[in-house]
Amino acid sequence: MGERSYFDWNATAPLRDAARVAFDAALAIPGNPSSVHAEGRAARRVVEAAREQVATLVGARAADVFFTASGTEANMAALTPAIEVAGDKRPRSGLLLSAIEHVSVRAGGRFPRTAVAEIAVNADGQVSLDALTEAVAQSPRPLVSLMLANNETGVIQPVAAAAAIVHAAAGLLHVDAVQAAGRIECDMARLGADLLTLSAHKIGGPKGVGALIRRGEDIHFPDPLVRGGGQERGLRAGTENVAGIAAFGAAAEVVRRERLAEAERMLALRDLLEAGLKALSPQAIIFGAGAERLPNTTLFALPGMKAETAVIAFDLEGFAVSSGAACSSGKVQPSHVLAAMGVSPPLTRGAVRVSLGWSTTTVDVERFLGAWRKLATALSKEPGIAA
Ligand code: PLP
Repeated sequence: MGERSYFDWNATAPLRDAARVAFDAALAIPGNPSSVHAEGRAARRVVEAAREQVATLVGARAADVFFTASGTEANMAALTPAIEVAGDKRPRSGLLLSAIEHVSVRAGGRFPRTAVAEIAVNADGQVSLDALTEAVAQSPRPLVSLMLANNETGVIQPVAAAAAIVHAAAGLLHVDAVQAAGRIECDMARLGADLLTLSAHKIGGPKGVGALIRRGEDIHFPDPLVRGGGQERGLRAGTENVAGIAAFGAAAEVVRRERLAEAERMLALRDLLEAGLKALSPQAIIFGAGAERLPNTTLFALPGMKAETAVIAFDLEGFAVSSGAACSSGKVQPSHVLAAMGVSPPLTRGAVRVSLGWSTTTVDVERFLGAWRKLATALSKEPGIAA
């Protein structure tokens, strides 16, 4: 491979050095964390130290962190009508989701399809608080799930304001903070989140580890998704992924320490990238530009461009970019996020996401703009795509 620049950090981030060290060290421990002997206790110590590190990232108590096998699984575990608060066993009447949630939330968890309702977003991709107010009025004691930042546009959602609306209706708020963690502040109390989801691989931990975090011990899940040996205080059976969890904890600690400085650096690079794009292609559209966004994310389109072609062209030039959300089939699906924002289908099909991270440099961004200068004209003349 020639020179490459990785611009797909919202799909996954490279493993942090500290995470790799913690992973390797944990692999060397032979014990099962549920065993009482010294080897087992050593593994348990590793898991509990990581629980503390992950809790600290979101201002929670370690006892409220439940490790899962992914952000997807944490979302699925959270979204259940059976969730109890302070012993109240009445099932939740319905699930309210914004129209731009990740597919793992859009799937609706364990609510019947008929009990799930969507809340509209505005043209900048922010959830409408008026629509939320109306929706909670029609769904007593709902469970509401809102992402803190969108994976495609990076648009930050008004979660704290939403929490006040949800709580006034005796509802519970679940916050998918998978993309926000490590990039903006994610303090559960300040957000007003009752439940929060994290995923290790978006912050420099390994793929295949996540966490569901509750705001306090009054919240219970009587219907765990995975039953068996009772690990993770009964929420998630199965021997813990000790090495993955250790690495998640290490990554959480690094992003907590470096977040503010990194966010400033990211923003400067993203501004450079967007200014360059606009200078070279004044007709380029940057989605969500009118709202507050994650400092690392740009989703843009050029009239007449097809995202699949653009992604391949960039790949051949040495850049890993994406056409929105990564999906397991590798196929490009039309973005439900842009559709919810009212973007026209031809523009939606041309949206390319560039997401930056801690190893991105000015040189990467300048190289990208050089490639764009070369490719833009040809890319905007895609047959069948209206310019
Ligand atoms: N939520 C959001 C907003 C995401 O972007 C992702 C992954 O892309 C997930 C949840 C799922 O996380 P995981 O890949 O760990 O299943």
